[in-house]
Amino acid sequence: AIWNLGSINIDMVYALPHMPQPGETLAANSFDQGLGGKGANMSVAAARAGAHACHIGAIGPEGKWCVDRLMEYGVDTRHIVQSDTATGHAIIAVDPAGENQIILYPGANRGLGAGQIGQALSAANAGDILLMQNETNMQAEAAEMGRKLGLRVAYAAAPFDAAAVQAVLPFMDLLFLNQVEAEQLQDATGRPPQDLGVDDVIVTLGAEGARHFDGRTGAVSDVAAQKVTAVDTTGAGDTFTGYVLAALDRGLPMAQAMAQASRAGALMVTRHGAADVIPDLKEVQDAKF
Ligand code: ADP
Repeated sequence: AIWNLGSINIDMVYALPHMPQPGETLAANSFDQGLGGKGANMSVAAARAGAHACHIGAIGPEGKWCVDRLMEYGVDTRHIVQSDTATGHAIIAVDPAGENQIILYPGANRGLGAGQIGQALSAANAGDILLMQNETNMQAEAAEMGRKLGLRVAYAAAPFDAAAVQAVLPFMDLLFLNQVEAEQLQDATGRPPQDLGVDDVIVTLGAEGARHFDGRTGAVSDVAAQKVTAVDTTGAGDTFTGYVLAALDRGLPMAQAMAQASRAGALMVTRHGAADVIPDLKEVQDAKF
């Protein structure tokens, strides 16, 4: 199983005639609301890829529909709690050129407690995967708990914060970075991916595919991307991560896990939206590229 300590966000997307200026009041041309947050996206991806994905997180009073939707997509939601703080949300302004500006309110996502995490992980089995991103609190504490329980600790270093990654690094078995995050981490630590003391480091390279650094042997291997026309790259990295972990959880070797994830990521960039449009395993297997 995959235990994902992760954010749940409401994405509110407004199409604007132009970006607002300071002091300006601007009417939007359209509004769209969907389920998002890196945590929720990864839980949905793992579940749609066939894994038992158990989300550990929190919502506010107005976020019940997010839990319903996660459940609809196959995520185990029994360890999502409701708090008095607002559900995390992103207010996303998009101008006619497709440029965006985002206000992110972490809300309930930063109010998780050690008790809640401990209770969830008490049902985990050794060898299960514990996944985290940098949109919740309690990352290092959870990672340490996971290590002690014999879980494989996976971390997606996004949104990037060098101190946050370094706090989890001693407990980490798998690390997911995009190209920019990989450069930022190398700048912060002075060490290349294969020298971080992490068994498996996966760097996604957008349309260039992805690269695996084996921290045990120093070996580096590449997976090619599929050729597609990208219309919206939101959630591509999250989908890729969820798919890799679901495949590893099923016992597939890394190269096969990454090949499947790359097909899922490619499908994802052909679709508008986040959690609501993540493809399932059958779509990924049947897709013609
Ligand atoms: P992030 O969204 O986190 O920045 P990437 O842009 O690296 O992550 O994308 C994650 C994965 O999604 C890539 O490794 C690749 O497999 C797939 N992907 C992303 N963009 C494209 C694209 N334009 N064409 C094909 N595959 C893509």
